[in-house]
Parts: sequence; structure tokens; C-alpha cells
Amino acid sequence: MMNIPLSSPDITELEISYVTQVLRTPNLSLGPKLVEFEARMAQFIGVKHAVAVNSGTSALHLIIRALEIKDGDEVITTPFSFISSANCMLFERAKPVFVDIEPLTLNIDVTRIEEKITGKTRAILAVDVFGYPVEWNRLEQIAKEHHLKLIEDSCEALGAEYQGKKLGTFGEAAAFAFYPNKQMTTGEGGIIVTNNEEIAKLCRSMRNQGRGDSDEWLEHQRLGYNYRISDINCALGIAQLERIEELLAKREQVAQMYNMRLKDWTEARIPFSSPEVKRSWFVYVVTLADRYSQENRDNVLQELRRRGIGCSNYFTPIHLQPFYVEMFGFKKGDFPVTEHVSERTIALPFYNNLSEDEIDFVVRSLKEIVSNLRR
Ligand SMILES: *Cc1c(COP(=O)(O)O)cnc(C)c1O
Repeated sequence: MMNIPLSSPDITELEISYVTQVLRTPNLSLGPKLVEFEARMAQFIGVKHAVAVNSGTSALHLIIRALEIKDGDEVITTPFSFISSANCMLFERAKPVFVDIEPLTLNIDVTRIEEKITGKTRAILAVDVFGYPVEWNRLEQIAKEHHLKLIEDSCEALGAEYQGKKLGTFGEAAAFAFYPNKQMTTGEGGIIVTNNEEIAKLCRSMRNQGRGDSDEWLEHQRLGYNYRISDINCALGIAQLERIEELLAKREQVAQMYNMRLKDWTEARIPFSSPEVKRSWFVYVVTLADRYSQENRDNVLQELRRRGIGCSNYFTPIHLQPFYVEMFGFKKGDFPVTEHVSERTIALPFYNNLSEDEIDFVVRSLKEIVSNLRR
């Protein structure tokens, strides 16, 4: 029986050695590895400031707080994403205003944003879904014209580029995440990157219980949280960042192996690509052809799993999550493109050390399972 997981981190002796080195020091938190990790990440992205925290969700929450988005404010975003990209507004009682997606890139449809802007709109939070860059230029224009803040949720897109510029450099601030299924991992972790010194300062304070610059441990200048990331996690991040080009190249290679085997298959669409942008591969998601139903897709997932192949239905639309339905009264049909796509997606096993034989097995199984559906 095959056992091919959906994702798996790429950890070598370098990571193990960096982590164990930290354990031989007394500096397990707020130590030199935090400072080093932040400096290296800022350099990699090409921004002035980086503030590391304990998750991507925390990073998004602190950006929302730093921009003073609050009760009653509206933030425009996508319903086709991981739930944190909308939850981060709910934490502050702001309202996510969803705009449907564009069917090829699966990102927010920028041509439909302006019709959703009201007097309460404060910001646009855009997500680079599955590592494919949103049209950041267009978003910057819209944000500027309507005096809105622009927030980047690039948690799935570390290393991606839009018009030759790295993601994380657009808008007021960006968030990246380092859960073990992301392009690089710190175990758990996230980071805020920005060129805005004030935002960086606020985030640094809020991640550490609202402490200020003074050395007074029990002086709290503002409402804060414990969103600190340990130096153990940062050491892991430093090792991964030293290998980042290798990590990204391996993912590209695995994606191309899938592409080669699936590009002429008429039963499903492979991830969109365009010479104008550089995707960073987070997951490998195919979309079954329109003639298939959600039930067909669910049967494919079940059968793949029965054969020992990890897979998932990335994503269930956020507006149809039970508590969003309850809070806002969303219903099926509200965002038809998102719903149509999310009923048909299949995320296949995707990680750096996936072998060519395993890819062959996954593709062969997928094709066989789908062709059995037609009988
Ligand atoms: C992974 C991810 C996050 C952050 O996730 P954490 O588990 O909190 O690190 C945020 N937004 C998107 C779109 C993500 O994929």
C-alpha cells in the first residue's frame, strides 16, 4: 500500500544543527536568532522591516490592528482562501466584504472590487491564492484612488514575483506564514514585512504584550498579545531561508513534473500560468472539468485516499463556513465562481522530495479514478 502524504516539510541536517545550537544557549525567546531571522527575511523580500510572530494568522491580525481597522469598518477580500484571511478582520469586529474570484488565476477579480466600495470601506486585503500573484498594480491604483489601505496576504506565496517585484513589497504591509506545509517552515510561525516604520513598531510592541522600547518588562504601552515566536523556531527559519532558492526550485520541479503529465488531459485543468508573473508553488491543485459535480469530486478524493494518496478540497468557500453563514446570512449562490471552482478542486500530494515514481503513481491513479466516474 502506498502512503503519499499531501505535504511534507524539507528538513536537513542544517536545520537540525541550527535548532540544537539554540538549545545549548539560554536564549530561547527574544534572543539573537529572532533578530537574525527578521533581518534575513527583510533582506530576502527587499523591505526595511520584518516582525516575526507565532503564526501567519497573528501576522494578519497585527496588521489589521496597526492600521486601526475597527468595529464597523469594511475590508474587501476574497471568499476563496484559507479562513484566516477573513477571520483577522472579525477579531476586530470589522466586516469582510467578499468579491468573487477570477476563474483562471483563482484570485480576487480586481474588475469587480470598485462596485463593492462604500463609505465604510477602509482596506483591501488580497490573497495570492496557491502562490499565484494578484494583480498588485491594479490593486495599488484602486487603493490610491479610493484612499484605502492595501494589505497583502502572501502566506501562500513566499518568493513569488509580480512584474519583477517580490511579493511582500506591495501595499502597507504583507504577511507570510511558516506552517510545515508552506514553502518554508519554522514549525509554527509567521512574519509581517513592511517599509512603514510605524507599522513595524506597533506590530513589534503588540506581539510582545504591548511593551514599548523601554527595558521595563512590566510596563505596557498599549493592548498587546503574546504572539512571540521562539528562537528555536527562528533558527529553523534561518536554516530554511539559507536554502530558500533550493526549496523553491525543488517545488518548481515537482510542479513541472505534474504539469507535463496532466497538461493534455481533458478531464481537469492544471494550475494557471502566465509568463508575466512568477508563481511560487504552495500546493498543486487541479480543477475537474465543468461537467463533473461536487459529488464526483468528493468520490475522487475518497478513492485517492483509499489508495494511500493524500489529497484535499482546497478551499471550502469562506462565506459558506457554518459560522459565517450564521453571522452574515451568506448562502449558496452568493459567489458563484468561487463556489463552482471549490466544488471541483483536488489538491494532489505536493512537497519537495516527492519522487518521479510517486508522481507517476498519483497521476495514473487520478486518471483511472476519473475515467471510472464516466462509466
Ligand atoms: C497559511 C495561511 C495563513 C496563515 O496560517 P497560519 O496557520 O496561521 O500560519 C493565512 N492566510 C492564508 C491564505 C494561508 O494560506
